[in-house]
Amino acid sequence: MSKFGSPVAAATDGAAEASGPAPRMFIKSFGCQMNVYDSQRMADVAIGEGYRETERIEDADLVILNTCHIRERASEKVFSELGKIRELKEARATAGLSTTLVVAGCVAQAEGAEIRRRQPAVDIVVGPQSYHRLPSLLRAERGVETEFPPESKFDHLPPSTPAAVRARGVSAFVTVQEGCDKFCSFCVVPYTRGAEASRPAADILAEIGALARAGAREFTLIGQNVNAYHGRSESGGVARLADLLAAAARVPGVLRLRYSTSHPLDMSEDLIRAHAENEKLAPHLHLPVQSGSDRILAVMNRRHGVRGYLEIVARVREARPDIAFSSDFIVGFPGETDADFEATLALAREVEFASAYAFKYSPRPGTPAADAAAQVDIATKERRLATLQQLLEAQRQAFNSATVGRRFAVIFDKPGRRPGQLIGRTPYMQSVHADVDASRMGELTEIEITGVKPNSLAGRVVTQPARRSREVA
Ligand code: SAM
Ligand code: SF4
Repeated sequence: MSKFGSPVAAATDGAAEASGPAPRMFIKSFGCQMNVYDSQRMADVAIGEGYRETERIEDADLVILNTCHIRERASEKVFSELGKIRELKEARATAGLSTTLVVAGCVAQAEGAEIRRRQPAVDIVVGPQSYHRLPSLLRAERGVETEFPPESKFDHLPPSTPAAVRARGVSAFVTVQEGCDKFCSFCVVPYTRGAEASRPAADILAEIGALARAGAREFTLIGQNVNAYHGRSESGGVARLADLLAAAARVPGVLRLRYSTSHPLDMSEDLIRAHAENEKLAPHLHLPVQSGSDRILAVMNRRHGVRGYLEIVARVREARPDIAFSSDFIVGFPGETDADFEATLALAREVEFASAYAFKYSPRPGTPAADAAAQVDIATKERRLATLQQLLEAQRQAFNSATVGRRFAVIFDKPGRRPGQLIGRTPYMQSVHADVDASRMGELTEIEITGVKPNSLAGRVVTQPARRSREVA
């Protein structure tokens, strides 16, 4: 038993602070933005149980690893991390301190009780749709909870404390949709996150309002397939993503909106129009394409071809001429030939992405593509990855260089390395640092880009008053 008392004692005592320090928790998040959001909400649950956060894992009575299963490397990282935490747990036990070790997220969902067999130091395994049940698991100090529960976790999570809301910062993520019904043949998400489900618009807008009152200004609405969003509208009908973005734009304090990640098939007419009409929507769209070969797109079960993708890009560009695109690519998908890969390079050249991620295909157990006979050898995957990354990096640098001399409304959200410096983001998601008064944190500040560094831009404040992002040349 920890000298800080068990979670049960902290939760039921009600006088944990008076009788001794509260137990401490440490949460480490792997993978996507949705996991970052889930980690924040798991922290809310643990705070409700009497914990407070620590930045030092050595001091933690409760350690939660929020895991990612999207590629093999991401899952394996979790097990090497668990090995290190086991040693820590043993060292703490020698000092008379107990540690509850929780594995949450998509590896938890996919592997379930198997995780405890591979690493017996793990006490609790909880999937991404069931972490609202953490309190009973923490009280029992053991358990595996990976069923998809009938109730929505969002209806059972405790409200965030004012401090936790403030800690989500100037740029906040808000989950609006979860799960996926698309079943791309390479992807584990439909199995680990479950069927597509959208939160009611009123709940999302209330969360955005609370975050905005606490100082958040830039909001990214997130979901595995966010543009399939179709939640209950405030009037009882169906709200689509464009409706939700329009309502979010009206929330006092909201300065900029983004959404991620989108499937090309769900780029509906109203959403494309939102890029022309919603002044708070940033001119930047992450639209994964995965491959530039129609044949590979078909076996990936993406349900669109190259021409369909390019048409969407053209329509969004027509609606919002200054839009920039980013994307995801997979190389070495089973059966991918040199000609298929050349087609991917051709598509990337045609679109000219502002930035993009490229991944080697990783067979995921239980997905159809993992059983395909024509797996591509690792050397070919690596060669194609290097070639594609080189092209995408050149495009990123060209895009960044072209911003020198341009002016953007930047939202600064953190202090820079030097005193007097702040770091923020342009509407295009580029990190920019400039000498700016700290009072400008969370404001739209007009910045002229003066230089390009490998991973960021340098800028200077323009003296005239800030204009809205879309009016900035
Ligand atoms: N919903 C998004 C879409 O439709 O494209 C993608 C979400 S997925 C969590 C993020 C990215 O991981 C994908 O776009 C894909 O490029 C990559 N990915 C997913 N499964 C993969 C696998 N088995 N191997 C390599 N990369 C993969
Ligand atoms: Fe995975 Fe995205 Fe395909 Fe859904 S649409 S299965 S999340 S890649």
